[in-house]
Amino acid sequence: MLDYLNRHLMHPLMAWREGKSHLRHLRALERTQFDAPEVIRARQLGALKAQLHHAWDTVPYYRAAWSKAGVHPSDVRELADLEAFPVVTKADIRRHNRALVSSAYDVSKCRKKTTSGSTGVPLTIYCDEPAMQFKAACTIRSDQWSGYRLGQRVAKVWGNPEYRHFGLKGRLRHYFFDRAVYLDTLNLNDDRIGEFAKRIQRHRPGLIFGHAHSLYLVACALKKSRVLDVRPNGIISTAMILHDWQRAVIEQVFGCKVTNRYGCEEVSLIASECEEHNGLHVNADSLYHEVASDGKLLVTDLVNRAMPLIRYQVGDVVVPSARVCKCGRGLPLIERVEGRDADYVVTPAGNLISGISLTENFAMHIPGTAQVQIVQESVTLLRIRLVTDDTFNDGSRGKIAELVRATFGDGVAHDVELVDAIPQEPSGKYRFCISKVARERMEEMSA
Ligand SMILES: [Zn+2]
Repeated sequence: MLDYLNRHLMHPLMAWREGKSHLRHLRALERTQFDAPEVIRARQLGALKAQLHHAWDTVPYYRAAWSKAGVHPSDVRELADLEAFPVVTKADIRRHNRALVSSAYDVSKCRKKTTSGSTGVPLTIYCDEPAMQFKAACTIRSDQWSGYRLGQRVAKVWGNPEYRHFGLKGRLRHYFFDRAVYLDTLNLNDDRIGEFAKRIQRHRPGLIFGHAHSLYLVACALKKSRVLDVRPNGIISTAMILHDWQRAVIEQVFGCKVTNRYGCEEVSLIASECEEHNGLHVNADSLYHEVASDGKLLVTDLVNRAMPLIRYQVGDVVVPSARVCKCGRGLPLIERVEGRDADYVVTPAGNLISGISLTENFAMHIPGTAQVQIVQESVTLLRIRLVTDDTFNDGSRGKIAELVRATFGDGVAHDVELVDAIPQEPSGKYRFCISKVARERMEEMSA
């Protein structure tokens, strides 16, 4: 009953009160997802041309880069013509940040997103409010493919609950409106997981949402304590690779298929599985995607005008697909995401900390840091590798010591290594958080 009221009364009322358009977008997007692939591609071409002209006219970085490359928005007659345009990397965004902002927008009125994600490169992206609304609608649409319905209670297995950053208003909104139940992955142990399990038994969430491995740990803990009556409508795994062995345990414990979702802070939702769970549908309404011959994913944001990302190299490797999905949606597919993973580290007290949350925290708070890699050599020794710029100083070193103490407690030593680049794995992939001891601890927890 409360779910029904929340969906049909509270959500529309809040959207109206706050002048938000996401529910209107959602109604349209639910219809157009079943358009034929060629109809969707034609719509993307129109949106792409508009974005390119906007970027040429108002974004200094693109005008300079495209002039140098000898390309112009009017060269694009079909989607494939975009291939002639230069790629934008994370280093480009870091180096030219404000030159990528459109002169037609005032960044103080835009949403600021600061991220390092699994890549260890801190970035600042500005997104205009209409684009935020549209992207929110795209995300709700794909979230509902999991079986969840907007308005149902959500359980989040996630580091740093966001509502805590918005003071009393945030807490009230969280309590009465979002009604989310949190498990903070910055500090996982059996007691916290047990307490979380009790709360989800009581609140019966429609959706359980979180990092793949954190969901797996929760499922293992529930299995161990024989709690097998938590039955959400949907489970969404995001921000990490979902391995088949994790998926199997999660699905068995919750009696519900896991919906794998892929996105990044810079452009929000990139792709999500549908009810078929066979490949991921690209969010083609807000992005145009390309897969390079080496599998590197490039995305072009079709809606964010404040800081357009065009041929942005996300930093992940994907397997492309030319299949059409049985579900009837015309949205294009990718088979799977291969290049994103994160390790856990373990504290002397035996708690697990998610690598994504940890590198994110360090990269954002250490002044002068371009990239961070954290290697846990033993329970009491961390190796912190940093790629720095010239603003790195003694204060930054002090901040590292403070972060290590705050996160791991006393008794954990750390070495700081300044390097030119984060070393690559033999496979060519990068890992930004490596623990040589956490696996043992995780195996104990899931035994
Ligand atoms: Zn499908």
